[in-house]
Amino acid sequence: MFPSQIDDKFHDECGVIGIYREGAENITEMLCYGLIALQHRGQESAGIALNRFGNVVHYKEMGLVQDVFTPAIMQSLGSGDIGIGHVRYSTSGESYVANAQPLVVHYRGGGIALAHNGNLVNAEKLRGDLEDRGSIFSTTTDSEVIANLIARNYNLGYQEAIIKALEKVEGAYALVITCEDKLVGVRDPYGLRPLCLGKFPDGGYILASESVAFDVVGAEFVRDIEKGEIIVIDGSGVHSYTYSSSKEKAICSFEYVYFARPDTTMDGRNIYESRREAGKILAKEHPVDADLVIAVPDSGKSAAIGYAQESGIPFGIGLIKNKYMGRTFIQPNQKMRELAVRLKLNVLRANVEGKRLVLIDDSIVRGTTSRRIVDMLKAAGAKEVHVRVSSPPVTHSCFFGIDTPSRKQLVAATHSIEQIKEMIHADSLGFISAQGLVESVGLGDNALCKACFTGHYPMPIPLKTVPHVAEKN
Ligand code: SF4
Repeated sequence: MFPSQIDDKFHDECGVIGIYREGAENITEMLCYGLIALQHRGQESAGIALNRFGNVVHYKEMGLVQDVFTPAIMQSLGSGDIGIGHVRYSTSGESYVANAQPLVVHYRGGGIALAHNGNLVNAEKLRGDLEDRGSIFSTTTDSEVIANLIARNYNLGYQEAIIKALEKVEGAYALVITCEDKLVGVRDPYGLRPLCLGKFPDGGYILASESVAFDVVGAEFVRDIEKGEIIVIDGSGVHSYTYSSSKEKAICSFEYVYFARPDTTMDGRNIYESRREAGKILAKEHPVDADLVIAVPDSGKSAAIGYAQESGIPFGIGLIKNKYMGRTFIQPNQKMRELAVRLKLNVLRANVEGKRLVLIDDSIVRGTTSRRIVDMLKAAGAKEVHVRVSSPPVTHSCFFGIDTPSRKQLVAATHSIEQIKEMIHADSLGFISAQGLVESVGLGDNALCKACFTGHYPMPIPLKTVPHVAEKN
């Protein structure tokens, strides 16, 4: 059963990290700490690759970072000046360790390790072309297509080989790559998936999906990698190249709604501030008389604080989340789904009994979980439950590395707001407008991808691309 079916959320696919630090004795530990800070981006598998003068060693396994990287595994990996890491969440039930990352490919002169966050929209075609020319694939991931394209052109030099590969791929990607004596970071021409650069005060650099990974290893944030930019880090410092400049920026707006940690700053905007602002705008767009503002934990909290601040209605705790519930034992039937929600969330009856509640959620995808939560609150004695959502109605699937159901399963694609209100048993329902979301992020109207709310994708989507069939990274 997919996590998105339990909590009715979009799910991110991956987090990536890379460290360049000459003479580092503890690079494996630092990569692990960074990956633990990125664990919310993927909990299915974890991996690390170390590059010792072109000789790449790696370890990857299914599971959480701290379970995969035991002291014995870390010791066996040893150390090195350059390392990359990856946490993964896959959309298919057939997740297996071969698809975990980093991916390592060998060419005549050494090894290349690559970690990818995103999804290619033309992977199937590229893969077919490569297979026709004799390539053999050992995984079902898009990332292997990129790695293969790089390895094929390696005789042109690493940089030219990477650029040649990027000229062919279309889609969303943040990549960290290590080869020779280099650490390379790449962000796609739209900036769909995030990647930022940090610096260690005593020398060395770090790349990561989110700036929270810098905090845990004592690195300082330097800047975000720009759309269409390649960063090369080696003994002579940091070098920046633009390989694509013709596309409009389209940062995934769901990073600000749900994916990223609130303590991350992404493309110049702190996530907590952005969510709190969304809550304030939501309160202006959809006011209601109520006694208490509560959040669907944890991701609805920042917007709930904003809603309370703007409306003057007190903020309180109404739902308690069990953070330790695993997902693998949950069976995909109706009864177990009900149980899954109860295991994950419980009502704080003393706080909600007899009250008119504003319930803030960050998104409604299928609508199934919202109904269960509203029912639980009413069963605990809530007089009214007014649901407010800090993202616009999700009407279209994502093709850029985010786990989304097919369009017909998206409740807002097939139902009016009034019908959804009835379905989830709410007393009223309001979603932030697309313009309100843009305002809350504060990066301007043209900086965000809003395709899952509007259907306007930043690039053409091949008709046969079906989100839940493709294995993503
Ligand atoms: S379609 Fe939605 S989830 Fe996908 S990248 Fe765009 S904003 Fe993000």
